[in-house]
Amino acid sequence: MKIIKKINQLNKYISNVSNVGFVPTMGGLHKGHISLIKKSKKMAGKTLVSIFVNPTQFDKKKDFLIYPRCLKKDLVKLKKAKVDFVFIPSANEIYFKKRKRKIVINKKYKILCSKFRKGHFEGVLDVVERFIKIINPKFIFFGEKDYQQFFLIKKYFSGKFKTKIILCKTIRDKNKIALSTRNQLLNKNQMQIASNISKKFIIFKNQIDYKISNSNKLNQIKYFLINKYKIKIDYLEIIDK
Ligand code: AMP
Repeated sequence: MKIIKKINQLNKYISNVSNVGFVPTMGGLHKGHISLIKKSKKMAGKTLVSIFVNPTQFDKKKDFLIYPRCLKKDLVKLKKAKVDFVFIPSANEIYFKKRKRKIVINKKYKILCSKFRKGHFEGVLDVVERFIKIINPKFIFFGEKDYQQFFLIKKYFSGKFKTKIILCKTIRDKNKIALSTRNQLLNKNQMQIASNISKKFIIFKNQIDYKISNSNKLNQIKYFLINKYKIKIDYLEIIDK
């Protein structure tokens, strides 16, 4: 497994490889990330994983600062998964070149997280485009857990680059919580609440009748969760994929 920090170093290793599968991550790796890597190993000749906590996609500085980082453990997991290349660039390496045109997300996509996390997807699209240009992979893999991210990347980049954008299913733990690096920031009680909420949504999803309006039921669940767990809900919607 080659560990690479600089773009010119990366070019030396992969410029002659035509079938790279690329799995972008922010580290803090778990079985969700590993499932993307496994898919890449099946579809592509060589697998490259990046670990880069992208500062521009955080709308709150504190969130960026407390984001879990554990590079040593990540490298052990990547070696075990038989990854070919790990790219760990600095922010300077990625943002050295200035953009010609600012990323602007169409008003009609300013929903859900795009509405509530200011600048988040602009930052994601910017960094993903930079990575695609640097790596020129045959495939790039994203998790369905972050469906809006996948949706926007596909909207903005399929057709623009020859890279195929592949969606991978969400991996959950035995308590039905989607695996996420940020779960490390939750205590036992908060994880229990997350599990209860996930289970509630899964039951609700299976009961949805798409022929009728479900807004009453949605509101019921929303206020039940707010009152029971004393939480704030940014959004809870049923959206056509
Ligand atoms: P992150 O490191 O959180 O930026 O995630 C890197 C990639 O892994 C993204 O494409 C995520 O959607 C994907 N991912 C994160 N968690 C999961 C999960 N539980 N199941 C499947 N994919 C995931």
